[in-house]
Amino acid sequence: MISRRSLLAGSLAAPFLAHASARAQVNADIDVAIIGAGAAGLHAAQQARAQGLTARIFEARNRVGGRVFTDTSLGSDFEAGAFYIHWSETNPWTEIAKNLGTEAITDSGLWGGFDVFSNGRRLTGEERSRRRGGFWRLANVLDGEPTDVDMSFGEAARRVSPDQPEAASGMTLLSLGEDADRVSIRDYQRLDAGDDLVLPRGYGRLLERYAEGLDIALATPVSAVDFSGAGVQIETPRGTVRARAVIITASVNVLKSGAIRFTPELPAETRSAIDGLGMGALTKLALKFEGTKFGQSSWTQFFDSSSRGDLVNFEFWPWGNDLVVAHFGGDYARSVAAQGEAAAVEHMLGRFVAILGEDARKAFRGGRLAGWSADPYALGGYSIAKPGQSQARDALAMPVANRLWFAGEASAGAGSMTAGGAALAGARAIAMIRKVI
Ligand SMILES: Cc1cc2nc3c(=O)[nH]c(=O)nc-3n(C[C@H](O)[C@H](O)[C@H](O)COP(=O)(O)OP(=O)(O)OC[C@H]3O[C@@H](n4cnc5c(N)ncnc54)[C@H](O)[C@@H]3O)c2cc1C
Repeated sequence: MISRRSLLAGSLAAPFLAHASARAQVNADIDVAIIGAGAAGLHAAQQARAQGLTARIFEARNRVGGRVFTDTSLGSDFEAGAFYIHWSETNPWTEIAKNLGTEAITDSGLWGGFDVFSNGRRLTGEERSRRRGGFWRLANVLDGEPTDVDMSFGEAARRVSPDQPEAASGMTLLSLGEDADRVSIRDYQRLDAGDDLVLPRGYGRLLERYAEGLDIALATPVSAVDFSGAGVQIETPRGTVRARAVIITASVNVLKSGAIRFTPELPAETRSAIDGLGMGALTKLALKFEGTKFGQSSWTQFFDSSSRGDLVNFEFWPWGNDLVVAHFGGDYARSVAAQGEAAAVEHMLGRFVAILGEDARKAFRGGRLAGWSADPYALGGYSIAKPGQSQARDALAMPVANRLWFAGEASAGAGSMTAGGAALAGARAIAMIRKVI
């Protein structure tokens, strides 16, 4: 526990002095309650332990990892959520993997070529090069100096490629999972960049190992957070827990859904930060095949767009296994995921068969949907800032009443959208909490 002297020595001491005098009156079961056992919550809990704070994680699901999950239910590894350790040079998961003896390798070998289709028909060379032009013009804008005025990806694409406005959707739907007119370009431009690493044994497995030994209450959704008194009270189906501070890592859309009730109401700044953010619907669906590789090597990608612009990227045989993984996003993904797994799998198999032919059905052995937008504990893929709202992430990261810290990926500034950013946000919250309790 931190002493009064070190509290005063801390750079954040001044704003917290009023609270410090109330500290002795807090009657708490634990120092820190952490809502969510994803990347943010697990790293926060490990940091709390390292700093001598007692912390317990309350997790709604019956597993850890959140949106990082290696699903083995088809008998092969299906990385249902995060795959890359982005900007690995500074990403905490690089070091964690190393410390746990988990192999993390460069992604440069994961390339099997690609092909482009429209409604299952292979595009001609001329059609492909026309699309590439619009794509690269927009990519140049993104790589350039941050724009003076924030705008959506769609608006930026219309400015540089009036004849190729769909270039923006091609980019945002499959990378951010959201339609181009709903995403701030400035927020994207501020994101961290660097080299990516990948985990042949699975990102989800790494988080499972990292969780070992932590105090985690699984299948324990938090329904209310009361910070009207000196500490914080957390309501769960297993009763009420008192803590000195709480870290909330539930996704932006979960926060918007009202699944967690706050007493008193959150301050206007925090509510408007949550309003300024949204979530894309990046979705993955695995199709398992036996007895054929369709003549395609590992990591080959087939992009297909429908007449309505519904885009999907089929990735063949990750790590040489027997799965084809469909990646898709936006309102299309929301509507597919909302149909439920059986209908979603049948729909995506239909699109695959339109490219590969009816024989593909005979080799089909089962499918799995990772429909994050329909998952009540995620309600989306990952956060986006709405056009004109690039400041919302920093506003969300501000402590509330020196007792509440929002520390999911959405609050991670330049690391937002990623498992690395989520971990850094969790660590940042613990560092601040350490100064005030
Ligand atoms: C398809 C897809 C691909 C992605 N690819 C990458 C990638 O390659 N690299 C990368 O870095 N990132 C990627 N991401 C993003 C990355 O997965 C997330 O940014 C990161 O995992 C978020 O971590 P978090 O801890 O903030 O949130 P979460 O992982 O969502 O953790 C929050 C936890 O809170 C729990 N929870 C929710 N409500 C409650 C409640 N009321 N009570 C208790 N618990 C609750 C949830 O069950 C969840 O476990 C991808 C995401 C998706 C969906």
